[in-house]
Amino acid sequence: MQQTRNNALRGLPSVDKLLQSEEAQKWLKEYPRRVVLKAIREVLEERRSELLSGNAENEISRNISYAIEEKLSESGSFSLRPVINATGIVIHTNLGRAPLSDKTLKHLATIASGYSNLEYDLKTGSRGKRHVHLTTLLKELTGAEDAMVVNNNAAAVFLALTALTSLKKEVIVSRGELIEIGGSFRIPDIMAAGGAILKEIGTTNKTHLYDYENAITENTGLILKVHRSNFKISGFTEEVETADLVKLASKTSKILMYDLGSGCLIDLRPWGIHSEPVVSEVVKTGVDIVTFSGDKLLGGPQCGVIAGKQKHIESLRKHPLARALRVDKFTISAMEAVLMEYVYGDDIIKNIPILEMLLCDPDTIKERALKIEEGLKTLPNFTVTIREDDSEAGGGSLPGVKFKTYTVLLKHSEISAEQLQKLLRIAKTPLIGRIKDDTLILDVRTIFDSQLQEIIEIFRQIDK
Ligand SMILES: *Cc1c(COP(=O)(O)O)cnc(C)c1O
Repeated sequence: MQQTRNNALRGLPSVDKLLQSEEAQKWLKEYPRRVVLKAIREVLEERRSELLSGNAENEISRNISYAIEEKLSESGSFSLRPVINATGIVIHTNLGRAPLSDKTLKHLATIASGYSNLEYDLKTGSRGKRHVHLTTLLKELTGAEDAMVVNNNAAAVFLALTALTSLKKEVIVSRGELIEIGGSFRIPDIMAAGGAILKEIGTTNKTHLYDYENAITENTGLILKVHRSNFKISGFTEEVETADLVKLASKTSKILMYDLGSGCLIDLRPWGIHSEPVVSEVVKTGVDIVTFSGDKLLGGPQCGVIAGKQKHIESLRKHPLARALRVDKFTISAMEAVLMEYVYGDDIIKNIPILEMLLCDPDTIKERALKIEEGLKTLPNFTVTIREDDSEAGGGSLPGVKFKTYTVLLKHSEISAEQLQKLLRIAKTPLIGRIKDDTLILDVRTIFDSQLQEIIEIFRQIDK
């Protein structure tokens, strides 16, 4: 065995030999020499370790040129690529949350491709501050005295808790709100990292005003309320109204902070959505500080907004962490364009893709499904049906709220749903759906009209 392995290792061609091969002349015409060399070296190294690990006694016969060619064609292709979201989940954290409108992207591209007044005051010709570009819009939209933006909502919560509670002070939180948001963001851990001490009160299902009252001591640094943005508790439950917490905080001179999660700037009640607190309504109750994400229901780029009383926001801005968590010009420009849409736009729902998809009229969704069905009709091996179903908002937003949608159900006569899903993941633009009962399901709520033709083409390729 050792013998064969050594023979096989010796049988590997040298870099020079491969570089002189006929195929290599073709590669060198297409790719820079260093890229070809890198591909050759990597493939040889892979073969060598396969042989050494004994996993590939026969692998030597596998075509090395082919492997190099494959590597070359992968070289220079992006790791981060667009995919088609056919899950129906509008705010899909794994698929990048909120898509941005062309108008937003235009502002982003204009700023990104050149210089800007990011930190330059055009009136005085002296150094300016980057946060001014968003503060006025955020103040108008939230009704808060002041506002600032950091990297994401996790950063917003972390900064606010760290800066507003001195070390060893307690932060009071209801046991019903000690939440985990995907990706290990846990309220107790964030607090510990910032040096505050968690003071849990109440029970999982019920927390009363007296629980808060009894917990407040001179050691209390802050009262924290957290929106249950990714789960629901129902049944025998009770939580304290924000207005009552405001009164308590003001009577005892404590800071009240509310982590809202999603950052819903408009009232969604006309669409039957009652569970999402509207930022301006919460601010109006007199809460000292609210925090929320920029890329959930707000529909903007990844960032975290902190809005509230001016004296607190000012102290947050001065904290050393604020510099570490600050946003760049890409985020500021995209966020500015989205917030402008809310303040000045003629049709907020239509011009913010997240809201348009979430509140899309089911008949429009059905039409989209019908177009896909029509396009796939000529493919003999596919059985296509359309069904009414529900979508979820996703991304830690609107738990339990169902949105009527239409799905396209696909079955192939020879390929299993699982295999089909694999093929769709390696399509030029990967198509992400789900499987149920050995059927591939595409929820068309999150598919853009501009993608319909491409989807039909992907299935044509598979059926060839
Ligand atoms: C989503 C969420 C966070 C984390 O926000 P990111 O913007 O993802 O960092 C924090 N708190 C709540 C309540 C959330 O819903």
